Amino acid sequence: MVNGGRAGAGRQYAGSILISFDIDGTLECGDPPGPIALEAMRQAKARGYVVGSGSDRVRSDQQRLWDIHKIDVDFVGGKHHLDEVRNQFEATRYVHIGDTDVDRYYAEAAGFEFMHVEDLDGISDALAGTEFFDWLG
Ligand SMILES: [Mg+2]
Repeated sequence: MVNGGRAGAGRQYAGSILISFDIDGTLECGDPPGPIALEAMRQAKARGYVVGSGSDRVRSDQQRLWDIHKIDVDFVGGKHHLDEVRNQFEATRYVHIGDTDVDRYYAEAAGFEFMHVEDLDGISDALAGTEFFDWLG
């Protein structure tokens, strides 16, 4: 986990794709649970994506979740502050995945592409597989 630890260290990971995951209603560990398996996050990490959460939960709560699930996220952000995440990392694409219009609003306001979990319904079984990553490129 690098949030805070890398603050001020400059923009990282040039050339990567950055994915911000909303939690509640989006990830299987959310409240309510969403359709995206944590395995998708793990695979994204393994494939070299910059991965983190952009939730309206407080950051300590988000970090506790990743500690429990042993996912070494690159950032823990606020959904309303995705611009801070964008400033922290140099990436070729910035993607936020969420389940509400609020997600869409703040994602697009911060220059992120927005992906609604409902758009993934047909491929939810494959979220940890290639279709998800084919979409991301
Ligand atoms: Mg949500």
